[in-house]
Amino acid sequence: MSYHLNARQREEVYKKCELRYPEVCSHCQKTLKECEMVKFYLHHTRYDVDPKDPEYIRFMCKSCNKLEIFSRILP
Ligand SMILES: [Zn+2]
Repeated sequence: MSYHLNARQREEVYKKCELRYPEVCSHCQKTLKECEMVKFYLHHTRYDVDPKDPEYIRFMCKSCNKLEIFSRILP
């Protein structure tokens, strides 16, 4: 299974996440404005499920997305 979403898929998933989660970084809780971002990164919490399932996706800001703990593939 590929975890790379194309632009259209990302757009769809992003919309689902917007309905499901508050629009803040799931880690530092900052808003888009505080992070000076237009859109959050979509962080996958699992890599063995459908990559388009919002249940396993969280919003993440630029700085948190760079953290090593989140760059590793989770079991
Ligand atoms: Zn953050």
